Amino acid sequence: QQGLKYHGIVEDCCCDYETVDRINEDELHPLLHKIVKYPFFRYFKVKLWCDCPFWPDDGMCRLRDCSVCECPENEFPEIFKKSSSHSHSSDDIVCQEGKPEATVDHEMTYVNLQLNPERYTGYTGPSARRIWDAIYTENCPRYPSGQCHEKRILYKLISGLHSSISIHIATDYLVDEKSNTWGQNLSLLYDRVLKYPERVRNLYFTFLFVLRSVTKAADYLEQADYDTGNPLEDTNTKLLMKKLLRDGKLQAACPKPFDEANLWKGQSGPELMQQIQRQFRNISALMDCVGCEKCRLWGKLQVLGLGTALKILFSVNGQEHSGQTLHMQRNEVIALINLLHRLSESIKFVHEMGPSVERIFGKQISSS
Ligand code: FAD
Repeated sequence: QQGLKYHGIVEDCCCDYETVDRINEDELHPLLHKIVKYPFFRYFKVKLWCDCPFWPDDGMCRLRDCSVCECPENEFPEIFKKSSSHSHSSDDIVCQEGKPEATVDHEMTYVNLQLNPERYTGYTGPSARRIWDAIYTENCPRYPSGQCHEKRILYKLISGLHSSISIHIATDYLVDEKSNTWGQNLSLLYDRVLKYPERVRNLYFTFLFVLRSVTKAADYLEQADYDTGNPLEDTNTKLLMKKLLRDGKLQAACPKPFDEANLWKGQSGPELMQQIQRQFRNISALMDCVGCEKCRLWGKLQVLGLGTALKILFSVNGQEHSGQTLHMQRNEVIALINLLHRLSESIKFVHEMGPSVERIFGKQISSS
């Protein structure tokens, strides 16, 4: 149990901490953990080598583990390489000033996410710090709690994602370089996340926000095309997605994880919405400045996932404000579900390890 520290309703959301932990542990995490292993969700097509649009590249990674291991082309589903007129167009993460996919296809990297887990890479120092600083100071300042809900959302989403990245670094850490031994770094978990309850709260907020976007897009996602050319695995993917989207226990315990109904409704709504979209575009562009391949891969994927969640929640009853029906590209669906899985894993870890880590490291701090 997390104890009394995190209880009651998650701020600005509609479910309490205890319910989130229970549903995540019993239902969501086991399902998501299976889903992301299927071919549709494990292959991601991304342009990893774009110039940083803001400053000369300054990244450097100490560890070999920082580089992405690319799929041999024949491993990547043939169908993903072709343009299609399906519900998911053949989309990709291109550079910010992106040319259409057809013209940049050859520059794409095909990645098997299962072989490139998000973990400690040794990426640290001024380069990493500069990115987080640019994100927080220029693009999502921390507004005081009196400020309107819309203004605080982006900060909370990014902070929640940042917590999740730090948790994955802590749970999959190179504890001994000489013998190449990987394990947990619980003091890092405490120092970067648990010591700051707001960061834990923002993690739960981000999880519920993304979960709501997935349940809101349930009709769309249920009908989506999960074809990778492997009928058996694709049928299983579809079945598991249906289970996730129509999970009775989730619907009973937490029918609306986040309520977007009153967002962007007031007089300044359209302006606030444009502001958040502008800031979000800048944050996406900053991912090209991340100086470590694997961090850039997961940074791009998760920022795309967050952008997709925002896109879904910006839409009204499945209709985007432009009046067009909600449409998601294949990479957006992949990013959204992988992001939800990353967050779900972080929540599980904090729930399971948080109290004992706090007892050990919190005591050390207070008695030192
Ligand atoms: P940082 O995590 O760099 O934090 C910088 C500052 O931000 C802190 O001093 C604090 O003031 C503030 N801050 C920290 N956490 C939060 C929060 N949750 N909410 C609000 N403010 C916060 N490293 C890896 O080893 N593996 C990865 O996969 C990886 N992915 C990355 C992806 C991106 C997009 C970026 C920018 C960096 C990534 N890094 C990764 C680097 C990692 O995030 C840290 O920057 C690095 O480990 C150095 O940590 P730090 O202690 O200086 O604090």
